[in-house]
Amino acid sequence: MTRRRKFWGWGYEDEVITPEQRETMAAVAQFYLPGFTPVDRAEPEIGAINLSAPRVAPPDSLAALFTADTWERAAHTYGKSTRDIVRGIEGDFSAAPDWVALPRDEADVARILDWCTSHRVAVAPFGGGTSVVGGVEIGRVRDAFAGTVSLDLRHLNRVLEVDPISRAARIQGGTLGPDLEDQLRPHGLTLRHFPQSFALSTLGGWIATRAGGHFATLYTHIDDLVESTRMVTPAGVMESRRLPGSGAGPSPDRTVLGSEGALGVITEAWMRVLPRPIYRGQATARFPGDRGFLQGAQACRMLSQSGLYPANCRLIDATEAMLNGVGDGSFALLVLGFESADHPLDAWMARAVELCRDAGGQVPDKAIKLSGGVDEARDSAASGWRDSFLRAPYLRDILILMGVIAETFETAITWERFEQFHGAVMEAGRTALDATCGGGRMTCRFTHVYPDGPAPYFTLLAPGKPGQMVQQWDTVKAAVSEALIAQGGTITHHHAVGRDHRPWYDQQRPALYGEFLKAGKQALDPAGVMNPGVVVDP
Ligand SMILES: Cc1cc2nc3c(=O)[nH]c(=O)nc-3n(C[C@H](O)[C@H](O)[C@H](O)COP(=O)(O)OP(=O)(O)OC[C@H]3O[C@@H](n4cnc5c(N)ncnc54)[C@H](O)[C@@H]3O)c2cc1C
Repeated sequence: MTRRRKFWGWGYEDEVITPEQRETMAAVAQFYLPGFTPVDRAEPEIGAINLSAPRVAPPDSLAALFTADTWERAAHTYGKSTRDIVRGIEGDFSAAPDWVALPRDEADVARILDWCTSHRVAVAPFGGGTSVVGGVEIGRVRDAFAGTVSLDLRHLNRVLEVDPISRAARIQGGTLGPDLEDQLRPHGLTLRHFPQSFALSTLGGWIATRAGGHFATLYTHIDDLVESTRMVTPAGVMESRRLPGSGAGPSPDRTVLGSEGALGVITEAWMRVLPRPIYRGQATARFPGDRGFLQGAQACRMLSQSGLYPANCRLIDATEAMLNGVGDGSFALLVLGFESADHPLDAWMARAVELCRDAGGQVPDKAIKLSGGVDEARDSAASGWRDSFLRAPYLRDILILMGVIAETFETAITWERFEQFHGAVMEAGRTALDATCGGGRMTCRFTHVYPDGPAPYFTLLAPGKPGQMVQQWDTVKAAVSEALIAQGGTITHHHAVGRDHRPWYDQQRPALYGEFLKAGKQALDPAGVMNPGVVVDP
């Protein structure tokens, strides 16, 4: 039986929120947000959603590829940011696409784009719909077009070819994370790309948004795993050569990476794959005191510059460690991990622990675990951490349902500016939370670390006002975004630009580069129908 996704939030319809889960999350919210009163709101029901009739009709020759079913249109209205979930809960689906297109193969994709181009119909590629930046919300440009289409790649979901010699696989753009891994597993291979949204996001979405996996160093960005790409554009197909490397001019793959559906539809890609790891090492280091987080950052800098390349190097500030149930609020926590398909990791771990201790970290010997010859699925320490990480989006929806604003934002900055940057962004966030929500919590962790700087990831929890949560979040988000840009950071490290980040992305990118992108879009999408409003204006 095919499982159906929730049309308004994270996960599947059969994953019903239980009264016990609500009670637990209400207690959590009240503990961290003193004075907060949870709202008792039910999950929205599709029967209560009324959508306006589609404005245009596809021709008979394409009709079988389109649906105007209410559930489909509602489920393709938004991505999965807090502002999306809130609007879904409130039953606001005014931005629903007129149609959802479900191509069965690449030829269908080309035919759909042809029709959209000739009839001034805006079309947004839709992978898993987990965008948190308004990337799939085609309804935002509704009034400027004769119609809007969400083009769902769900049927392009196969690993088409595996090359075990060069260790690469040809994979279709609509393949979800778990399906992709299931199809690679019989070959003993993995793409080893695990964003937190892994369960519900797709290869095409990852490439289009330059997604970051949960590994902290080295090959964790989808960019590094792409060998070649194939994209259907309104002007034709653009396919790059399979090459391990090439110095032949600007890279066509780099144009496709981060294009967010504004240039075309990524139908397939050759991806670099790896043997599945069997050796693992894990350790945790505590950094107590007021400057614990900054000391932990120092450890991360030393680790990222050591050439050890830990798979995990996740520094969590004291408040967030407490929120995650792995601390009492008195210490920042650094979670370290190594993995290899080839060799035991004792020496790597020993040196990493030494660096943590040099930076003031406490690493009891019992906090160091090494395993060898263990398949990932059976390693309970590693999978336990990952399970709770992957479970977080479900818990977030429960918080939002009861009226908590629960959202994250992420960035990157070079090491020499980090301390000042962190202070300024925390200050801007807390000031905005106080002014807009009457208080709240803000925490920080590192998701990725590089030899030249970290990627800090901030989480905010605040009491929302019923009916005003979207505006409240927009105000807070604008304040922290201004601070990020003013301090020299990036508006996004891995969540992409979409529509929500455009004002700050436009400040960040060189103006001339914006013109260059515009010209490129004109060449590939002359009618300007491909996901208008993301990344670049037509
Ligand atoms: C709870 C949660 C956790 C997340 N964790 C992470 C994380 O750890 N790392 C990370 O990088 N991101 C994360 N994200 C953001 C999001 O999952 C990523 O941006 C992801 O790459 C989107 O993939 P998708 O298949 O869902 O794409 P969608 O949301 O469907 O689309 C995203 C954008 O890509 C375009 N697009 C999608 N498919 C194609 C295609 N085949 N061709 C051309 N354009 C296409 C869309 O038009 C849109 O602009 C998270 C989101 C949520 C809700």
